Amino acid sequence: MEPELVDVVVVGLGVGGEEVAGRLAEAGLSVVGIERDLVGGECPYWGCVPSKMMIRAANTLAEAHRVHEFAGSTRVSPDWAPVADRIRAQATDNWDDRVAVERFRNQGGRFIRGSGRLDGPGRVRVNDQVFQARHGIVLGTGTRPAAPPVDGLAETPYWTNHQAIEVARLPESLLVLGGGAIGLELTQVFARFGVQVTVVEALDRVLATEEPESSEVVAAALRADGVNIHTGVLADRVDHDGQKFTLRANDARYTADRLLVVTGRRAHLDELGLDTVGVRADQRFLPVDDRLRVTEGIWAVGDVTGAGAFTHVATYQAGIVVADLLDRVRRADAVEGPELDRSDTGAGTDPNGTAVPRADYRALPRVTFTDPEVGAVGLTESQARQRGINVQVGRVSLGSSARGWIHRADGLIKLVADADRGVLVGGTSVGPAGGEVLSGLAVAVHAAVPLAELRSMIYAYPTFYRAISDALRDLG
Ligand SMILES: Cc1cc2nc3c(=O)[nH]c(=O)nc-3n(C[C@H](O)[C@H](O)[C@H](O)COP(=O)(O)OP(=O)(O)OC[C@H]3O[C@@H](n4cnc5c(N)ncnc54)[C@H](O)[C@@H]3O)c2cc1C
Repeated sequence: MEPELVDVVVVGLGVGGEEVAGRLAEAGLSVVGIERDLVGGECPYWGCVPSKMMIRAANTLAEAHRVHEFAGSTRVSPDWAPVADRIRAQATDNWDDRVAVERFRNQGGRFIRGSGRLDGPGRVRVNDQVFQARHGIVLGTGTRPAAPPVDGLAETPYWTNHQAIEVARLPESLLVLGGGAIGLELTQVFARFGVQVTVVEALDRVLATEEPESSEVVAAALRADGVNIHTGVLADRVDHDGQKFTLRANDARYTADRLLVVTGRRAHLDELGLDTVGVRADQRFLPVDDRLRVTEGIWAVGDVTGAGAFTHVATYQAGIVVADLLDRVRRADAVEGPELDRSDTGAGTDPNGTAVPRADYRALPRVTFTDPEVGAVGLTESQARQRGINVQVGRVSLGSSARGWIHRADGLIKLVADADRGVLVGGTSVGPAGGEVLSGLAVAVHAAVPLAELRSMIYAYPTFYRAISDALRDLG
C-alpha cells in the first residue's frame, strides 16, 4: 500500500499528544492524530480532573466535621451519588470524547481512532492505513497501570484507577495496595465517605518518594480519617472468593470487598514498532534528549518519557516538541518566520516566535492532593545529599506559624539549600493549600533566587506561605 504523505503524525492523544497535535495543526501543518481510546487520555477521564472532584467533595465533608471545633454543631450525611454524577456529567461526558475530537478537528487536525505503530523510518501504520511523516512523528502513548507480580492477583477482579474513578456505589471496605500519591488521594476520599480503607505498602513509609516529614503528616491525617496503614508489608498472594478479596503477607491477612492496585504504571513500548526504527523496546520508558527527541524524526512527550508522570510535565514537554518541530519545518522549507534559535540551550521558537528553552526538570513541582496537601519542588534532602551537595535544611511546623495556629492546621515547610551556592535546590510545603504555597518555592528553585533575596522579601501576615520566612531563619 502507498503511504499517504503528511507533515506530522502524533500517536496517542493524551494531554501531551493532544497539545502537540492541536498546536501544530493550528500552525498550519497537516497533522494526523491517532488515539485508540479517548482523546485527552488519563487526566480528564480517569486521573487528575475526576480525582480532584472527588477530593473536593470529600474535603467539604471533613470541613463540616470540624464545625464543632469552631462554630457550633452540624450533622453530615455523606452521599456518593452527587460525586459520581458530577464526574459522569461534567468531567467525562460519560466517558465520551466527542468534544475533544471536535476541538482537534476545528484546530485543523485529522483524527483517526485506532492503535498506531511505527512501520519503518518516518512511517506509522494505523488500521489499514500507512502514513509517511514529512517532518516528524510524536509518540505520546502514556502509561498503563502496572500490577506487581503477586500470586493470584491477575486472576482476581481487582480495581485500577479506572474502576475507582468510575465507581457509582461505594463498597463497604477497600484494600489499597500501594501507598503512593494516587493511592493515598483515593484512600482519603473513600475513607471520608465512610468506606473502611486499609493501605498496604511494601516500603517502610507511605509517600516514600517525598520527604519523611511529609509521609508522617499524611499518615497521621489518614489514620485520623480511620484508615489502617500497614507499611513494610510485601504481599504474597491475593484471592477472591466471589465476594471478598483476601491479601496475604507473611502471617498477616487483610480482607475487603474491593482491592485497588495502585503500585505504579508502565509504558508499553513493545506495542509501538520501535524495532522498525532501531530503538530498543525493552526499556522502562522512552529515553529522550532535552528537546524530547528519541531518534531522527521521532519525538516523545508525556508519561512515556519517564520524566515525571504529571500533566504539567506533559504540557511543558509539548511546548518544547512544538518549538523544535516547527524549527525543523522552517529549516526544511526555508520559510519566512521568526529568527531561528541556534543556541545550545534553545529548543526552537513557538508559533508566536517566542524562544523556548530546552527541557530542564530542576524545579519540577509535584503535589499530592491529600488533606493536608503535600507540595514539593526540586530535590528532597536525601536526593540533595546523594548528589554531594553541601546541604543545609530549614524546617518549621505550620502550627508554630500564626495562620497555622489560627487554622489549627497540621503541616510544615521544609527547605533544602545548597550552602555553597546560597540557593534553594528543593522545598516542601505541607498543609492546607500546600500545593498553592509551593508556588513561591518553585520560583525560588527554578530561578535560583539567592537566599539573601528570599530573606529580604516581605511575607504577608498571617498567611500560610509566611512560614517560609521562618523556615529560612531555621536554615541558619
Ligand atoms: C488517578 C490519577 C490522578 C492523577 N492526578 C494528577 C494530578 O492531579 N496532576 C497531575 O499533573 N497529574 C496527575 N495524574 C497523572 C496524569 O494523568 C498523567 O501524567 C497524564 O495523563 C499523562 O499524559 P500523557 O499524554 O503522557 O499520557 P496519557 O494520559 O496516558 O495518554 C496517552 C494516550 O495514548 C493512547 N495510546 C497509547 N498507545 C497508543 C497507540 N499505540 N495508538 C494510539 N493511541 C495510543 C492511550 O489510549 C492514551 O489515551 C494522575 C493520574 C492518575 C491515574
